[in-house]
Amino acid sequence: MLLLNPGPVTLSERVRQSLLRPDLCHREDEFFDLQDEARARLLGVYGLDAQDWAAVLMTGSGTAAVESMIASLVPENGRLLVVENGVYGERIAQIAKQYRIDYEVMRHDWMSAPDFHAIVGRLDRAERPFTHIAVIHHETTTGRLNDLARLADACAERGAGLLVDAVSSFGAEAIPFAHAGLAAVAATANKCLHAVPGAAFVIARQASIARAASRTYYLDLARLAKLQAQRNTPFTPSVHAYYALVEGLRELEDQGGWEARHAHYRALAERAASGFATLGIEAAVPAAQSSVVLRAYRLPANLDYVQLHDGLKARGFVIYAGQGGLASEIFRISTMGSIAAADIDRLVDSVAQLVGKNASAIA
Ligand SMILES: *Cc1c(COP(=O)(O)O)cnc(C)c1O
Repeated sequence: MLLLNPGPVTLSERVRQSLLRPDLCHREDEFFDLQDEARARLLGVYGLDAQDWAAVLMTGSGTAAVESMIASLVPENGRLLVVENGVYGERIAQIAKQYRIDYEVMRHDWMSAPDFHAIVGRLDRAERPFTHIAVIHHETTTGRLNDLARLADACAERGAGLLVDAVSSFGAEAIPFAHAGLAAVAATANKCLHAVPGAAFVIARQASIARAASRTYYLDLARLAKLQAQRNTPFTPSVHAYYALVEGLRELEDQGGWEARHAHYRALAERAASGFATLGIEAAVPAAQSSVVLRAYRLPANLDYVQLHDGLKARGFVIYAGQGGLASEIFRISTMGSIAAADIDRLVDSVAQLVGKNASAIA
């Protein structure tokens, strides 16, 4: 079965085999070597300097990392502006609410890009200044890639920090770490890094960690950062998921790093899009505004999602439904994981069979 959902991903044999390495006690040097390698390699993906940045690991899915970032990096008296244009932006607002953070949401239609001028206007009109903005980089709801650089610069000009959910972009899209307004990104092992669920991480500026709040016990970012810097860990980590994360990061480096992964995903996404176009299936978001990681398509006129999903599953592919109100309109194809051009060709052939079969059944 080939997974075309946005994580967990189809594993390479190399990463799968890494799960079988020796059992480790998480209080022994062998584990701390693994933890150190994961943290160093995570910074290495985007060439970050450990003087300025820290990669902080935690056990959990991507949401754990996002929750840790929001709950920790908005300081005690801080104020958060959440930019929402999909399910994951909505989730950040729910996290802020749960922790009783002073926050406000700028809601957008889920098919639209964030309104930069409205956001800047809101920042400048705030009675009490916002200390942070949170945004999703790749909003997996629609495949849209939100522009981080402009928001980071708007933050920097106002002394605020940008907190980014990069869960479905880290390792495959450009992230403007060089922009001073970017304070932190949260991500996970089991999306563009091609490892297994269970290990997640936040990469934050050391200066942001120094000002962190302690609202959560398990996900306390400053505490995790401090202990990990001392080759320590507060709890039992998902040791096997760390093996896979490290192997996924080694494989990423061997394959040419994030730029090469970006090019590979782009080629797959374009192959799928042009194949679907010949079947009359249109992209829901223009390619230029989409990530290379996942693309949303309008459901063909004569197939509903369940028919498409079940027909493809019978042929060896798991695709992904639209969320919320988009469930009856779109389907999504992610190209992350160990996937080749030939897999996409088989996918397009399978969709062609399903569309054709239904067309003749109706006729
Ligand atoms: C997948 C994803 C998450 C986290 O999902 P988990 O199920 O917790 O791993 C968060 N944000 C985005 C943008 C995602 O794509």
